[in-house]
Amino acid sequence: MQKLLIFSTLNCDKKMGSIGKEVTSQDHAEDVLYTIKKSEYVGRYIVASRDIKPGETIFSDQPACIGPDNSSKPLCLGCFRKVSGIYKCPRCNWPMCQPSCTTSPYHVDECALFRKRGAKITIPWYDKPCTYYDAILPLRVLLLKYSNPKVYDLVNLLMDHNDILDEGTVKRRQTLVDFLRKSCKLSQDFTNEECHKVLGILSVNSFVVHDGGSDEANSDLIGLYPWTSLMSHHCTANTKITTREDFSYVCQSTVLIPAGEEIVTNYHHYHYQFYGTPYRRNDLKSTWTFECMCKRCHDPTENGTYVSAVICDTCKGGRLLPIKPLNFSSDYGCDTCSAEYRHEIINAKLAKFEQHIEDTKSSEPEEFEKLLSKMSIIFHENHYWILDVKRRLIDIYGNKEGYELYRLPKDLLEKKVDYCQHLLKVAQSLCPGPSEMRGYLLWECVGARLRLAQWHWIRMKITTPDYLEQLIEIKSDLKEVAAILGPIRKDSDEGQMGIKAKAELKTLSKLIDEMSEQTARFSSSTLQHGNKMASRSASTSRTSSATLGNRASMSGLSSLTSAVINQDRYNDLKSRRSVVIV
Ligand SMILES: [Zn+2]
Ligand SMILES: [Zn+2]
Ligand SMILES: [Zn+2]
Ligand SMILES: [Zn+2]
Repeated sequence: MQKLLIFSTLNCDKKMGSIGKEVTSQDHAEDVLYTIKKSEYVGRYIVASRDIKPGETIFSDQPACIGPDNSSKPLCLGCFRKVSGIYKCPRCNWPMCQPSCTTSPYHVDECALFRKRGAKITIPWYDKPCTYYDAILPLRVLLLKYSNPKVYDLVNLLMDHNDILDEGTVKRRQTLVDFLRKSCKLSQDFTNEECHKVLGILSVNSFVVHDGGSDEANSDLIGLYPWTSLMSHHCTANTKITTREDFSYVCQSTVLIPAGEEIVTNYHHYHYQFYGTPYRRNDLKSTWTFECMCKRCHDPTENGTYVSAVICDTCKGGRLLPIKPLNFSSDYGCDTCSAEYRHEIINAKLAKFEQHIEDTKSSEPEEFEKLLSKMSIIFHENHYWILDVKRRLIDIYGNKEGYELYRLPKDLLEKKVDYCQHLLKVAQSLCPGPSEMRGYLLWECVGARLRLAQWHWIRMKITTPDYLEQLIEIKSDLKEVAAILGPIRKDSDEGQMGIKAKAELKTLSKLIDEMSEQTARFSSSTLQHGNKMASRSASTSRTSSATLGNRASMSGLSSLTSAVINQDRYNDLKSRRSVVIV
């Protein structure tokens, strides 16, 4: 399973700050499509300043700061690559890769201050996490006080949750503050309180901007986006936020947002957006310490999807739904026979399957398939654990070693398409419009559909015009994938899908053009042929080369596709040829 990249932001503005001048959206940029509102209950939030059509850019946001995540191994303060300690910045003595990194805009301000105060920090080791690096992002935020006071004021309006800290956290943070103020000799620049405030703000408002993954040279990075942090969470958002190459965020509408309506984001990574209300609300509470009261959370059917519905044991057909969805331990009631079940009973069922799912390895998709059939008699077909298992299978079929697209037998290809289409349907209600979820699912679906279309065509199960029609349909989906995922930062899973989708789109377009041309040539020649064989000599040769029954002769295909597998040994049918676009 892909690593969870939680949007660790919060509408962090429950506590009103008191800077001299009220911050407005105009302080952000002239062309933003929102205005800032304030309410006693939720603090600041943003609303559409005019009707916003789906896909419009509402604002873009540069990170106020970027820095290493906590528990980072020593890394370059200029380019964030791991360092060995061989080279050090000649001005501040922090280890870096090379001279050019020392003048990186990320590093110059802190470098100047370190030098001014004369602190010489020695990194004790390079092969394991070093807590000194936990101080870098807080320091970068603190430096805004001098380099960008307006943004610093805005940052200080964000919520810090410092009033509910346990003793251990306070102690841990004090060590960090002491490192900055004493070891780095910055006590005259930043007060103890300022440092704690910034640490609190970062703990509830920072976003993961880069997932270092398993790459040894790479580290997780986090950033602070004060304008983005003004957005409240909603479990069915009307926007999506994507990261660009320079780590800037672009917030776009996914549905029509009428003027005056609140603009909201979903703090959960899209993989978690199908999860049911009890699960989501608990997670939101423990991760971001608030209780979601959004429209979806109010609605037991969750926009009519029934993702939390369990099949009633009493009448065997009705749907059990949380009676009071906003209550963390709500009992469940049947919508058909009015039976009621204690929440402990339902929770036990949910926990049992959650454990089964966790225990199943991605190398054993047949185990997931078994789970699916077990769950189908317990849960509603759209239940989030069913959707979760289907998503895992979508990730296995066509992607995992041994299950590459070209190896997949027809029935698994059909399963993959079926699962994608099921999830796409639910996505229309839970993450509508050109959401990341839709981009991901369409991308997964396209590969399997393409392969299936080829399977049928090669075996003469469908005519060439039908095949062409299917390719054109697939091309239109591929176009949508490229539009949704194409602009995302390349160094991310979704950005990579976008790049592949763009390349495939080119290949497929060329293939469609060539086939259309050949089909047109063929039909014109058969037309002539049928036309009382008027020009027999001219048409004969053309007809023979374009006989569409002779599908192997359309081998223009193979040179166009990015991978060609000439033997279909994984299928029981003896195929004439097999062409794969991966
Ligand atoms: Zn570097
Ligand atoms: Zn330096
Ligand atoms: Zn909600
Ligand atoms: Zn019932």
